[in-house]
Amino acid sequence: ATPTALLVGTGRGAQLGVLIRGPEVLESTRRVDTILLDKTGTVTTGVMALAGLSPAEGFTAEKLLWYAGSLEQASEHPIARAVAAATPDLSGVDEFTALPGLGASGVVDGRTVLVGRAALLSDNGVTVPESGVREDMTSVAVAVDGIFAGWVYVADTVKPTSADAIAALRREGLRPVLLTGDAAGPARLVAEQVGVPAEDVVAGVLPAGKVDAVRELQQRGAVVAMVGDGVNDAAALAAADLGLAMGTGTDAAIEAADLTLVRGDLTATVDAIRLSRATLRNIK
Ligand code: ADP
Ligand code: MG
Repeated sequence: ATPTALLVGTGRGAQLGVLIRGPEVLESTRRVDTILLDKTGTVTTGVMALAGLSPAEGFTAEKLLWYAGSLEQASEHPIARAVAAATPDLSGVDEFTALPGLGASGVVDGRTVLVGRAALLSDNGVTVPESGVREDMTSVAVAVDGIFAGWVYVADTVKPTSADAIAALRREGLRPVLLTGDAAGPARLVAEQVGVPAEDVVAGVLPAGKVDAVRELQQRGAVVAMVGDGVNDAAALAAADLGLAMGTGTDAAIEAADLTLVRGDLTATVDAIRLSRATLRNIK
């Protein structure tokens, strides 16, 4: 490969809204045959909205939201932003800890609050009822001082460009796989909307599980691209043959990636793949 052609390719990438870490990245882009897509913030807008509250006995909807929102104001997770934005009269939070892929913990008004996936609460000794989980949206569990306080529901929207971009990736010969820490119900609903079959949905995975998914595919001989936006995606982005970060995403994701999609939409992924194929064709 002549460096000049690669540099031209890199410059052309910038015009298309794709920031390329180095000219050599174009080479791995060309060989990719499988593309893992994070759901929240990548395929979906990641701008979530509070969609409902189901307080447990002993809690009102207002109190449930107040504990959850006051804790979540300190987190940059899309779920957290939605919950905090919907909470009137936020209280301060102490000892806040973000638990990537799980939720968050902290102290609100002197009480220990845990917000996140049901497993986070159970792992911390909280009894979470099986009822209340919704299949059509993300169900977030809340505990106050070790007691289950209720469910907070948040809904997300698929980006208007996602379905077309995923169809175009397929036309380029790539196999798209949806990879998410969210539960199977909401994951499948999104997959349906963008044309990813149920067998290509990997749901409920922790950040380490995203890395495992990348490695498993690589062991089976696939050349894997991963597109993500979150702190929870950073390790998988680094493990993939090609890591693509949403420019609208977190610094951790951008730092771990080979390519950054400035506009934060999947269409640029297709552009990047076409560009690298065209650039390398010109060289040969
Ligand atoms: P995704 O892979 O879709 O980007 P994450 O790995 O960030 O999702 O999160 C996986 C799951 O963990 C979420 O669906 C949610 O249940 C829970 N979770 C993670 N962070 C938070 C948070 N700050 N507040 C509430 N729930 C969270
Ligand atoms: Mg995400």
